[in-house]
Amino acid sequence: MRPTGSDSTPVSADPGILAGLAELLGPGRLLSGSAAEPFLVDHRQLYHGRCLAVVQPRAAEEVARLLGFCNEHRLGVVPQGGNTGYCGGATPDESGTQIVVSLARLNRIRQVDPLNYSLIAEAGCILADVQRAADQAERFFPLSLGSEGSCQIGGNLSTNAGGVNVLRYGMMRELVLGLEVALADGRLLTSLASLRKDNTGYDVKSLFLGAEGTLGIITAASLKLFPRIRSSATAFAAIAEPRAAVQLLALLREASGDRISSFELVPRIAIELTTRHIPGVRDPLDAPHPWYVLCELTSSRAADPLDPMLTECLGGALQDGLVLDAALARSERERATFWKLRETIPEAQRLDGASLKHDISVPIVAIPEFIERAGAWVRDNVPDGRLVAYGHLGDGNLHFNLNQAPGAARASFLARSETVKRAIHDLVRDFAGSISAEHGIGRLKVGELERYTQPAELDLMRALKRTLDPNGILNPGKVLRPDADSIRERPTE
Ligand SMILES: Cc1cc2nc3c(=O)[nH]c(=O)nc-3n(C[C@H](O)[C@H](O)[C@H](O)COP(=O)(O)OP(=O)(O)OC[C@H]3O[C@@H](n4cnc5c(N)ncnc54)[C@H](O)[C@@H]3O)c2cc1C
Repeated sequence: MRPTGSDSTPVSADPGILAGLAELLGPGRLLSGSAAEPFLVDHRQLYHGRCLAVVQPRAAEEVARLLGFCNEHRLGVVPQGGNTGYCGGATPDESGTQIVVSLARLNRIRQVDPLNYSLIAEAGCILADVQRAADQAERFFPLSLGSEGSCQIGGNLSTNAGGVNVLRYGMMRELVLGLEVALADGRLLTSLASLRKDNTGYDVKSLFLGAEGTLGIITAASLKLFPRIRSSATAFAAIAEPRAAVQLLALLREASGDRISSFELVPRIAIELTTRHIPGVRDPLDAPHPWYVLCELTSSRAADPLDPMLTECLGGALQDGLVLDAALARSERERATFWKLRETIPEAQRLDGASLKHDISVPIVAIPEFIERAGAWVRDNVPDGRLVAYGHLGDGNLHFNLNQAPGAARASFLARSETVKRAIHDLVRDFAGSISAEHGIGRLKVGELERYTQPAELDLMRALKRTLDPNGILNPGKVLRPDADSIRERPTE
């Protein structure tokens, strides 16, 4: 018997296996060599893996058959969507023994049902295409991320993606009515009935949401739609400190009758980085200020007076000294420029140099104190780093990132990553927060999950993994450590 899987020793491609895969999927669906290369590196270029082959199934039944085959032959399988994930979850390991399953060709929108306010999309549909399909039916699909032009619904479901509308509509988990999932044993679980109520036992579909491909491969989903957005008001407001942002959020929720859908915190340094590196981004205000919020009210009623509502609320906040200055978007173009500034912060960070990233959440009300304490630690301990803390304040979610300071050496800055991560994540624990608010665990945070999750919860996760994937073929080494779920040896012939 020959061990396979997360062992780092490369094994040569077994021609029988490749022939079996080719037979299963038909001609032209197996990529290897240079054609497979783009599938082997994650978006942040943290990992560069190898694989036996990249396969491109076109139908849910094919994915199920493929898993049955891989289970029989004990082949590790790595599902890949748009490959925009931040934690290396869609990248195979370095062994060269795993199969990357690209879902890109499962990209049909099977049904749009405006009266049921639901849409059934295959896993490989690009998020922006799903938003467009909803819009064409006079409906709204609210998930919205900076990567929406390339990330896929299957990836969004598997990472339980967040984005800029969580405050009003919830994360991806809350936007799902039903799922179709290929299981490790080759069966297809079909639960696409678009029901609002269904209390028949355990909510099995929820297991696959946020599971990052470790429990099954999602092939399609029924998603919730909402009334189309017909009016919006967007403002970019300067504040002295994050405490003012928390107060302003509460004020806006009250004053707008909870029509607020986005509330993003932006530090001054993000304006400096985006205006320097991203063409078309400009500072919306005349003078610099330490912090800003980008907030948006939306409504499905065309005549909702959102602009006056926002102007009045911000005017009052200006008088009270809570807001220092504010610009209201007067056109769709101006609104897009405000959002471009916010959405391109990660890209500007990348163009500016190395960065250390922490996707954390704490209770909304604790954000100011968290920024104060973690910021003080960074100032005292990371002289070659600059804090770039921004994000979805309305959800208590911060991207607490550090960028290499000008003139600092990249290697020595990056060498601090473990120390910085430990300090930030320990502080998150002190605040009863989460070390992964919306990006997941992938390969990057396996150790962090073990460190910060209570033993009973970890035991349950491992038990679920063993039940749904007894041979450990599904995305080995992601979310849970490989030795807890490593691929079992091939059966004796
Ligand atoms: C510019 C930018 C902005 C971003 N902004 C946000 C943001 O605001 N909020 C946020 O949450 N994320 C954000 N992200 C991260 C990323 O876009 C999301 O995590 C997204 O949901 C990943 O989708 P994907 O299709 O690219 O998945 P991939 O990266 O391909 O995969 C992610 C994980 O899901 C698994 N997977 C993929 N498809 C399937 C499937 N069909 N079945 C089972 N498992 C599967 C993979 O194995 C992997 O573990 C951003 C990324 C970028 C580059």
